[in-house]
Amino acid sequence: MKKIQMVDLQGQYQQIKETVNTSIQEVLNSSSYINGPLVHEFQADLEKYLDVKHVIPCANGTDALQIAMMGLGLEQGDEVITADFTFAATVEVIGLLKLTPVLVDVEPDTFNIDINALKKAITPKTKAIVPVHLFGQCANLEAVLEIAKEHNLFVIEDNAQAIGADYTFKDGTKKKAGTIGNVGTTSFFPSKNLGCYGDGGAIFTNDDELAHILRGIVNHGMYTRYYHDVVGVNSRLDSIQAGVLKAKLPFLDTYCDARRTAAKYYSNAFAENTNIITPKISDFSTHVFHQYTLQITNGKRDELHKHLLEKGIPNAIYYPVALHAQKAYKDIRYKESDFPVTNELIKTVISLPMHTELDTEQLEFITKTILNFVN
Ligand SMILES: *Cc1c(COP(=O)(O)O)cnc(C)c1O
Repeated sequence: MKKIQMVDLQGQYQQIKETVNTSIQEVLNSSSYINGPLVHEFQADLEKYLDVKHVIPCANGTDALQIAMMGLGLEQGDEVITADFTFAATVEVIGLLKLTPVLVDVEPDTFNIDINALKKAITPKTKAIVPVHLFGQCANLEAVLEIAKEHNLFVIEDNAQAIGADYTFKDGTKKKAGTIGNVGTTSFFPSKNLGCYGDGGAIFTNDDELAHILRGIVNHGMYTRYYHDVVGVNSRLDSIQAGVLKAKLPFLDTYCDARRTAAKYYSNAFAENTNIITPKISDFSTHVFHQYTLQITNGKRDELHKHLLEKGIPNAIYYPVALHAQKAYKDIRYKESDFPVTNELIKTVISLPMHTELDTEQLEFITKTILNFVN
C-alpha cells in the first residue's frame, strides 16, 4: 500500500507534471515574474469557470478577506459577524482593521454558521456578515442574503475551502460558491482544493465599482500610476503561481469528483456505526470536501487520533479551540452558553486523509482501522 498522506501534493503533481512544468517554464522564459500574461490569463479563466464578472488575484486568502473588507469601506467599530468554528484568518482580519468581530455558533451537522444565532447577533452597528463555507460546502446563503437585505448588510463569502462547490437557490438557479454575496474570497494555499505551489489568493465580485476599488487597493491604493488615492496594500499573485493555477484549473472539477468519491467511500463504511456521525451534505450545496470530518460521539476522539497516527494514518483536529476562547479574540460579551455546538465540536471532530490521490486500498485500511477501534 502507498504511504497514506493527509494531502498528497506530490502524487497529484506527478499526474500533471508536464502541463505544470510547461506553464512554469513559460514564465521563466518571459522573465515576467510579477503581473505577467499568465496572471491575466488565469484571472480570465477563473472568471469564466466561476461565471463571475471580476476576479482580482492577490497574495493569499487572508489578504483577500482583508482587502474585501477595506474595499467595502468598513470602518473602526463596525461589527462583522462570522462563525466561531473556522480558521482564525477570518476573524484575524476583522480585528486587524479595528472592526469588531462578533462570533456566533454553527450548525451541528454542517458546521456552518447558524442562522438563528446570526439573527440574534445583529445590532445597529452590524455592517457585514462573513459566512465561511467550511470544509467544502456552502453555508445557508439564501437565509444569509435575506437577513443581509433586511438589515442592509454586506455579505463576504469566505470561500477558501469550497472553490468549485455549486449553490442551488430555491427557484433552481445555480451559482458557484464565492460569487453570491457582495464579494467572495479564496485561498490558493497548496493544500486547498485549487492550490498553487506557494501562496496565492483571489477576490470575486460581480460589482463593477467594487472591483475597481479592489484593484486599486491591492496595488498600493493606486488608480493612476504614482497617485495614491486610498491607503492600499501590496498583495499580488505572482506569475509562477498563476502559471501553476492556470494549468490546474481545468482539473478542478475532476479533483472535486475524486474527493467526493473518497468521501462517499468513507460515509458508506461508517453509515451503520452509532459512535460516528458522518458529514451531512446540505440540499442547497454540493460538497467539495476540502476536509472530510467525522464526529466521534463516544468520547474517544483523542484516543482515536493517537491510535490512527500509530497505525500510520495521518489525521487532524480542525479545529481544537473555538475562536471565542482564543486569547486574541476573547470578548467579555461572549457567554459559553452562546456556543453549545462549537464547544461540542472541538471535542468530537476529526478530519481524515482527503485528497485527489486516495485509492481503494488506502480507504479500506483507514475505514477498517477506525471501525475496529471505535466499535
Ligand atoms: C486557508 C483559509 C484562509 C486563509 O488563506 P491563506 O491563503 O492561508 O491566507 C482563510 N479562511 C479559511 C476558511 C481558510 O481555510
